[in-house]
Amino acid sequence: MVGASLAGLSAARSLRKQGYDGRLVVIGDELHRPYDRPPLSKEFLAGSLAEADLALEPDTEDLRAQWLLGVRAVALDGPQRAVRLADGSEVRADGVVIATGAAARTLPGTDGLAGVHTLRTLDDARALRDELTLGGRLVVIGGGFIGAEVASTAYALGLDVTVVEAAPTPLAGPLGETMGTIVSALHADHGVRLLCGVGVKGLSGERRVDSVLLEDGRSVPADIVVVGVGARPCVEWLAGSGIELDDGVKCGADGRTGLAGVVAVGDCASWYDPRAGLHRRVEHWTGARERPDAAVAALLAGGAVEPSTPRPPYFWSDQYGVKIQFAGHAAGADSVTIEEGARDDRNVLAVYRRSGHPVAVLGMNQPRLFMRWRKQLAAAA
Ligand SMILES: Cc1cc2nc3c(=O)[nH]c(=O)nc-3n(C[C@H](O)[C@H](O)[C@H](O)COP(=O)(O)OP(=O)(O)OC[C@H]3O[C@@H](n4cnc5c(N)ncnc54)[C@H](O)[C@@H]3O)c2cc1C
Repeated sequence: MVGASLAGLSAARSLRKQGYDGRLVVIGDELHRPYDRPPLSKEFLAGSLAEADLALEPDTEDLRAQWLLGVRAVALDGPQRAVRLADGSEVRADGVVIATGAAARTLPGTDGLAGVHTLRTLDDARALRDELTLGGRLVVIGGGFIGAEVASTAYALGLDVTVVEAAPTPLAGPLGETMGTIVSALHADHGVRLLCGVGVKGLSGERRVDSVLLEDGRSVPADIVVVGVGARPCVEWLAGSGIELDDGVKCGADGRTGLAGVVAVGDCASWYDPRAGLHRRVEHWTGARERPDAAVAALLAGGAVEPSTPRPPYFWSDQYGVKIQFAGHAAGADSVTIEEGARDDRNVLAVYRRSGHPVAVLGMNQPRLFMRWRKQLAAAA
């Protein structure tokens, strides 16, 4: 297992559950045992969840695995299935699960400037939380889910918050423009400034950031900056391995790569979606948790297994006290209708359809109805 987080841990559990009794080595470049990332922008950042509560493993769990933590995999010898580590050692295996996830994208030229943060790891969250507790003016670059959650948490902590988004509206990609506008209106509801349709030219400050410079010439004063401009799959270490890379590890519908005995799962993996006829990489907790079962089945079978139809991708987000849930793919829809609630109340249940058939569903503070629609969506799929 390369990658000791949600997808790697889930694959290790699947292996044991499916009867694998042999040696199991889990390699991770962070020093921590697997922990949960979603609270890093929510309860943990707000200070209402302790570090111990992030642990993904119960005390009683023993996967009989050897954990190599704090060491990076730097290469994979495909034919030999040997993983080379940064300390010069090598782990040979009959099967390899690639679960190296994704890393936060950064802004060029901002390295070493104090007050500038990204948020992907526990260490990132600790550093950001320490600064947020001091208060001040926060500028979040990027109005996607993580940017929006950080803005919401910081607002609740009493900071003065501005979100800068290059696109005309935040979340137009994942939710479509109409519904993206409703979700992003949550910022304005709470007095958080949202500057859309303008890019960031750079940051200013000597040793510490003091403002964000926009492409239209404006300058937004900042004590703290969070760069939330997406994530890139951690796959550089696979260069030259013979594995096909294209926005992540290109896999079949069961997680198998082109190399025998090597599968990929979680945020780093771009699985083939037979219904859509294309590869998709999804960065959602539920996919990293559920899909390793199928990949491990294929790994243990040593070849193709009948892939079960994966459930439509699902994610949730908590912003300004509103629970946002989304399942399916908005991109293929030709209509969106609000089935329940009112857009002004921010409690809608909206269904996306293509040629009259549901392809995605969005809920804002509608958990029960959302779950019902999510099941229907899975059944239809
Ligand atoms: C702040 C935050 C909030 C989120 N909130 C939500 C949410 O509300 N809802 C939702 O659905 N999803 C959310 N997500 C996404 C969700 O957490 C991810 O989809 C999930 O963590 C993916 O798990 P993974 O194991 O594939 O990858 P990761 O969790 O990224 O783990 C990959 C691990 O591999 C390690 N690694 C990378 N390269 C190497 C290497 N070469 N050698 C060894 N180890 C390596 C990494 O350091 C990391 O520990 C959130 C993510 C973040 C960061």
